[in-house]
Amino acid sequence: DLILSVKDLQAEVDGTPILKGLNLEVRAGEIHAIMGPNGSGKSTFSKVLAGHPAYTVTGGEVIFQGESLLEKEAEERARSGVFLAFQYPLEIPGVSNLDFLRVAYNSRRKAQGLEELDAFDFDDLVEEKLDVVKMNPAFLNRSVNEGFSGGEKKRNEILQMALLEPKLAILDETDSGLDIDALKIVANGVNQLTSPENATIMITHYQRLLDYIVPDFVHVMAQGRIIKSGGKELALELESRGYDWVLEEALGVG
Ligand code: ADP
Ligand code: MG
Ligand code: MG
Repeated sequence: DLILSVKDLQAEVDGTPILKGLNLEVRAGEIHAIMGPNGSGKSTFSKVLAGHPAYTVTGGEVIFQGESLLEKEAEERARSGVFLAFQYPLEIPGVSNLDFLRVAYNSRRKAQGLEELDAFDFDDLVEEKLDVVKMNPAFLNRSVNEGFSGGEKKRNEILQMALLEPKLAILDETDSGLDIDALKIVANGVNQLTSPENATIMITHYQRLLDYIVPDFVHVMAQGRIIKSGGKELALELESRGYDWVLEEALGVG
């Protein structure tokens, strides 16, 4: 069943059109990879889905679980099960990671019509989820992302995802800046979290991550649109041939 339907999506930043008619359908149980050259609008797409205020939607529609997503505030989107792992995760000095996670978790629970977990039960839940990302519990008592290395931030994102159990997870360049061990831990976390009930969109410039998280579909984005889609073998072809041939094929440019 359809989780996300994006039709002819158009969006701009400061009056400059960036997304120019993007179409995508994501069903439960699927992992989609979006690849493409730098500047093609991949991050813009993820931010538009998350409801980032800097981006103005100028056309098209986004239906998430049967409801229009675009009318909803960013917070409401998150509560309803859209999770965006930011390309450059925010640091929040003075707020402990544990408190941050508990507030995020409980607001998601509320949106699901469930009772909030008290601090003790939440601690138990976090302990269990820490295992998924092999994260040291000491990270819970530090300020959110403050002084975390790139790899630690990425693990923290996957920890957030493990707790929030999103319906749709959007991972933007989750592989950038990770050494191979951290990449494997993150990939393993994502693989444990994918299920027939949820879906994942992975945005990545490189094929490397896709050695560890095998997508059902691979899309190439260029000039604000998805210009080619295929199966996992498309990623391998892009790895060996680059993007130019796809651009030429789809847009008649090289
Ligand atoms: P990608 O993630 O594929 O590398 P982006 O979505 O980051 O691409 O960027 C697409 C285009 O939109 C780029 O030309 C970029 O400069 C522009 N862009 C993105 N965000 C902004 C912004 N906040 N202000 C101005 N231009 C932006
Ligand atoms: Mg980029
Ligand atoms: Mg990007």
